[in-house]
Amino acid sequence: MDKPKILIVDDRSENRLSLELLLNEIDCEVVTATSGNEALLQLSKHHVAMVLLDVQMPGMDGFEVATLMRQNSKTRNIPIIFVTAINKEQKHIFHGYEAGAVDYICKPFDPTIILAKVSIFLELYRYRCDLEETQIELRDQKRILEKLCITDDLTGLYNRRHLNNILKQEFERCLRYESPLACLMLDVDRFKDINDTYGHSFGDTVLREFSRRIRFTLRASDIAFRFGGEEVLVLLPQTDIEGAKQTAEKIRLRCAAKPVGDANQAVTVTVSIGLASNPQHQAVLHNDLITFADNALSRAKEKGRNRVEEYTRL
Ligand code: GH3
Ligand code: MG
Ligand code: MG
Repeated sequence: MDKPKILIVDDRSENRLSLELLLNEIDCEVVTATSGNEALLQLSKHHVAMVLLDVQMPGMDGFEVATLMRQNSKTRNIPIIFVTAINKEQKHIFHGYEAGAVDYICKPFDPTIILAKVSIFLELYRYRCDLEETQIELRDQKRILEKLCITDDLTGLYNRRHLNNILKQEFERCLRYESPLACLMLDVDRFKDINDTYGHSFGDTVLREFSRRIRFTLRASDIAFRFGGEEVLVLLPQTDIEGAKQTAEKIRLRCAAKPVGDANQAVTVTVSIGLASNPQHQAVLHNDLITFADNALSRAKEKGRNRVEEYTRL
C-alpha cells in the first residue's frame, strides 16, 4: 500500500511547518494548503487519509471547509482533526460535525496528543483500505464463480443449467414480441468410434474443436450450450427458419471441411443437426423447441448423418 497522505491546512506557515515536522515521525506523506480554497483543491487532486484543519483562517474558515467536504461524496468520509486556539470548554461548537470522524486539538500543540490522534486515524484508514480491497477481491471472485457456474469446463460453452434460464427467457421474448427464435440440436457423428479408436483424450480434443468451430460460425447474439456428451444446443434469437438453416449448414460444412487433430493424428468429424423454429413449428412451451429439434436430429441420423434436418410434424 502507498504511504497514506495527510493534508495540513493552516494559513500560518510556522504552524504548517511545525505540524509537518511532527508528522515526519509517522510513515506518511504530507500535503499542505494555506487556505480553505486551496484545501479543497488539494482534496480534488490527492487521495487523502485525513485532514488537519485549522479553524480560524481568513476567507473560508475550517468549519466551512468541513461542511463542503461533507457535501462531496468523494471527501465525505475523510476524517478531520480541527486545529484550534479556541479553548476546550467551547467544544460544543464541534457538535455539528460529530456524524463524521472528527476530533480536535488545541493550540499550542501537544506533540504526544497529536501523534496519538493521527496514529489512531491512520490505523482506521488502513483498516478501511484493507476492507475495500477485500470487497473488490470478493466481487471479482463472485464474478468468476458466477461464470464458472454457467460454463462447461471442457468446451467453454455454456452448460445445461444455464440453458434452462436462457431458453425460458428467450422463448418468452419471442412470444411477447412475435419475433422468431430458432433452436439447433447438434450431435457429433459416430463419436463413440472416435473415442474407441483414438482414445478418450483425443475425443475431448475433438469436442473442444467442434465447439470452437460452432462458436466461430455464430453471431454474438447466438448462444451455444453443451447439452450432453457430444451434443450441443444452439439458440438463434431473431432468426427465421431460412437464416437458421443457413447457419446450421455453415456449421455442418465447417466441421466436415477440415480434419481435427495434429500431425500425429487427424480425423474428419461430421455432425448431424436437427432444427426447430418458432413461429414456424408452433412450439407452445419452451421445451417443445428442444423436443422438436431433437426429433429432427434423429431423422438426420436415420437419413445417413452429416446433414441438417428440419422438424416436421407427423
Ligand atoms: P451417433 O452418430 O448416432 O451420434 O453415434 P455416436 O457414437 O456419436 O453416439 P453415442 O451416443 O453412441 O456415443 C456418444 C459417445 O460420447 C459415448 C460417450 O462415451 C462419449 N462422450 C460423452 N461425453 C464425453 C466427453 O466429455 N469426452 C469424450 N471423449 N467422450 C464423451
Ligand atoms: Mg453422436
Ligand atoms: Mg449423442
